Amino acid sequence: MMTLEETKEKVRSYAEKYAAKKGFHLNPNSEELDMVIEGLAKRREQYGVQYCPCRIILGDKTEDRKIICPCIYHEEEIQRDGSCHCELFFKGE
Ligand code: SF4
Repeated sequence: MMTLEETKEKVRSYAEKYAAKKGFHLNPNSEELDMVIEGLAKRREQYGVQYCPCRIILGDKTEDRKIICPCIYHEEEIQRDGSCHCELFFKGE
């Protein structure tokens, strides 16, 4: 059984790698970043997959797959708003 801290480290590592690959950067506010990472880690512990912490889980596997981080919405949101809905990923390196 992993501790929440260990799960958070896994999520952080995923987020860093994904951001680097896509040319995004992570939220520069470390407290906000930590909150999103913790939200993702808790969902990962509870559901086995990292559902977006700022979206509602409907209980429908097909629909809910769309909100597994990185969700299907983030690229459009980053283009339009400069960051994804949770403010995990931001536009630009
Ligand atoms: S809004 Fe951001 S944090 Fe939430 S699932 Fe999409 S990419 Fe991940």
